[in-house]
Amino acid sequence: MASQVVREWSGIQQFPGATQAKLFELLGKLKQENVESLTILVMGKGGVGKSSTVNSVIGERVVAVSAFQSEASRPVMISRQRAGFTLNIIDTPGLVEGGYVNDRAIDMIKSFLLDKTIDVLLYVDRLDAYRVDNLDRQIIKAITDSFGKAIWKRAAVVLTHAQLSPPDGLSYEEFFSKRSEALLKVVRLGGRIKKQDSVAFSMPVVLVENSGRCNKNESGEKILPNGVSWIPNMVKTIIDVISNGSKGILVDKKLIEGPNPNARHKMWIPVILAFQYFIVKQIRGAIQKDIAREPKAAWELRDMNVSKRKY
Ligand code: GDP
Ligand code: MG
Repeated sequence: MASQVVREWSGIQQFPGATQAKLFELLGKLKQENVESLTILVMGKGGVGKSSTVNSVIGERVVAVSAFQSEASRPVMISRQRAGFTLNIIDTPGLVEGGYVNDRAIDMIKSFLLDKTIDVLLYVDRLDAYRVDNLDRQIIKAITDSFGKAIWKRAAVVLTHAQLSPPDGLSYEEFFSKRSEALLKVVRLGGRIKKQDSVAFSMPVVLVENSGRCNKNESGEKILPNGVSWIPNMVKTIIDVISNGSKGILVDKKLIEGPNPNARHKMWIPVILAFQYFIVKQIRGAIQKDIAREPKAAWELRDMNVSKRKY
């Protein structure tokens, strides 16, 4: 890895001047904060637009896009360098197969990530989907079980197909907020994130439109129906996530092979039970000794004599 020559991020030049200027400003901000590289992990179901989003951000067609789910079966990392900064984006196969979470895909992603640090997770889904279900929750659970709850502090939800006209007379903002609230709820449930956990609770949701028919503003920048130029906006959100005070997730052997990172404390349960048993035994012994030492009451002695007489 280290010896590999990283290609220049020349795709930036494909963007209109206004987008380039915003991106360079953001890269300058990263340089000021001494951030020399970022590794972004892209995950989600198949066909939601993961690969298209990677291509959009890099500004080149670097990974295959398919309308028919014949996705890449392995994760790939695309690395690009610009002004001393290296961007690594990891595109992954879809996490669902035949209606279930694809454990093989998850294991493959985990081993691919060995010794890498995930700076940001982009959890991708479509804006133009109308429901979330138990499968979504299972996917979130599988990600949480693999990388630990803390991954959600380093995450953003990405909603593709963002150029849409909402149904039922809803405004764009209303539709967006309903859809993102539903997804964030599923992330909180599947990730077992408590309401008090404000960082993960306020996970950002970014909108993306990968289609070539995406609207443009007068400067030629790709914009969303709400007028936002989405590429710089997504990069800005990613930078906000890494600046929120949380740590990146180092995927080491322990994380891959060890117990579920959320269940590590459960290893202490037998020790705690043994300790409790020991304490209870001690207390019980002390009480019995105390009782034996106590002078017997007259009625007790009488009862003892009665029972002696009987037998
Ligand atoms: P992946 O399986 O998650 O990697 O999804 P792909 O990037 O391969 O995209 C699946 C299909 O959706 C392709 O036909 C893409 O052209 C299309 N697609 C992806 N993102 C968008 C988007 O934002 N808008 C529209 N209209 N189509 C998209
Ligand atoms: Mg793909």
